[in-house]
Amino acid sequence: MGSAVGGDTLHDFNEITWLRIFRASVEQVDEGILITDGELDAPGPRILYANPAFCRISGYPLDELLGHDPRFLQGPETDRDVLERLRRTLEAGSAFSGQTINYRKDNTPYEVQWTVSPVHDEHGNAQQYVAVLRDVTEREALHRRLQYLAYHDALTGLLNHQRIQTVLGDEVERARRYGHDLTLVVLDLDHFKAVNDQHGHAVGDRVLRAVAEILRARLRTSDAAGRWGGEEFLLVLPHSDAHGARRVAEAVREELARQALCDEVSLTLSAGVAEYAFDLSPETLFRIADQALYRAKCNGRNRVEVAAPPSADPQR
Ligand code: GH3
Ligand code: MG
Ligand code: MG
Repeated sequence: MGSAVGGDTLHDFNEITWLRIFRASVEQVDEGILITDGELDAPGPRILYANPAFCRISGYPLDELLGHDPRFLQGPETDRDVLERLRRTLEAGSAFSGQTINYRKDNTPYEVQWTVSPVHDEHGNAQQYVAVLRDVTEREALHRRLQYLAYHDALTGLLNHQRIQTVLGDEVERARRYGHDLTLVVLDLDHFKAVNDQHGHAVGDRVLRAVAEILRARLRTSDAAGRWGGEEFLLVLPHSDAHGARRVAEAVREELARQALCDEVSLTLSAGVAEYAFDLSPETLFRIADQALYRAKCNGRNRVEVAAPPSADPQR
């Protein structure tokens, strides 16, 4: 078998020796290794071998794996598209890499990344399949957690400044390209500094979370809400015109005023609404909404102002 591993090996061991070495290697690695016969249709493929790492990952002892179709490891959340691509790739005689969800013996789901390669005979027919799997559940959970932290504001759970800015940019581009409605709402709590001064910063934080809750409850799935900074929030409402957006902003304003009465923390908010018009940049749309907000503040606060449609002002 020295030849089987190439002429560049230092030792010309016999096949049995090489098999022992390979077996020891396969049994030590952290990756799960599963070998099946080459029959893709029922009653195959049947498991011929599983290494200890695979038994550890899947929770099945070897004797409960041998002879079974590996499809019994799958379940309701297993990605059918991935399995379909796997089958088509193997039928074409190639190796396949993918990621999906499998289920342990105790029925808990885990995320696996695997590669399945055919072992061909001298005529090029797949005689066995070797699957090498890695349990990526923790890595994927960490990835999702990091992505959440990168996109969300820690206090309110709304999108953070950077993310809502990106969403606004993307939605302006989409509205420009497809010509659908888009409205931006900028909201700012009235005299919020007084809430902190009178009730303390912790109560101020609780109020910010309550406002976020009110915003979240009002949104449709295509809408986005973000904390622009301090006590200022943005709503990006695709497929909403200024009337629809005003209704949303008024509902938020009224609900906050109602809630504030119950909690004895007197609190209102002001909002500026600006509807996208062709070729406005995200920055200009924001500026128009912010000017409307400024008017709401000047006109007594606790009110919503809608910006007039932009004129042909070349600055816009
Ligand atoms: P206006 O009606 O003009 O908007 O008055 P205001 O008091 O709301 O405006 P100002 O911008 O002067 O004050 C905002 C306050 O928001 C000041 C700051 O202490 C408070 N603030 C900003 N971020 C936080 C936060 O994360 N937690 C708390 N509790 N307060 C915050
Ligand atoms: Mg304020
Ligand atoms: Mg402010």
